[in-house]
Amino acid sequence: MNVDYDTSQICLNGHVITGSYNKYPEYRKDFCSDCGEPTIIKCNKCSTEIQGYPLKEAMYYKLKRPNFCYKCGGEFPWMKKRVEAIMELIKMENSLNEEENAIFEKSIEDISKNTSTSDISASKLKILFKKLSKEAITATRTLIVEIASETVKKIITD
Ligand SMILES: [Zn+2]
Ligand SMILES: [Zn+2]
Repeated sequence: MNVDYDTSQICLNGHVITGSYNKYPEYRKDFCSDCGEPTIIKCNKCSTEIQGYPLKEAMYYKLKRPNFCYKCGGEFPWMKKRVEAIMELIKMENSLNEEENAIFEKSIEDISKNTSTSDISASKLKILFKKLSKEAITATRTLIVEIASETVKKIITD
């Protein structure tokens, strides 16, 4: 455990249960009361605990769920689910060919990891948007706004 931070407990769908797992054990839940999914407090790849509220500060802000583990870079289950769901939607539409599907998926991944080519990936997505339905574009935009940096958000919502 990081000495300066408490641990977060989050459900597999990404609902934050508590950011003060150790300090206030009474807030712990085995299952999420919003969606019924089991909860986790650790990265399932490297077992590092998910960072919660700073131990020495008052917790007057809402804790954001992380998308990736700060220790190993592995994606958390809720992040994986969202990208998978978007890809399902895109494939369901059947308006992209296989190569475009692959580019779409790679671009989402790139953006979610905020790499040095995220902005270019955002432009690629915008080009592919021309072939997609309004529904698919809205769903993709919502995901991007949640996971991307400000620069990428601007490109994609412009
Ligand atoms: Zn939940
Ligand atoms: Zn990890």
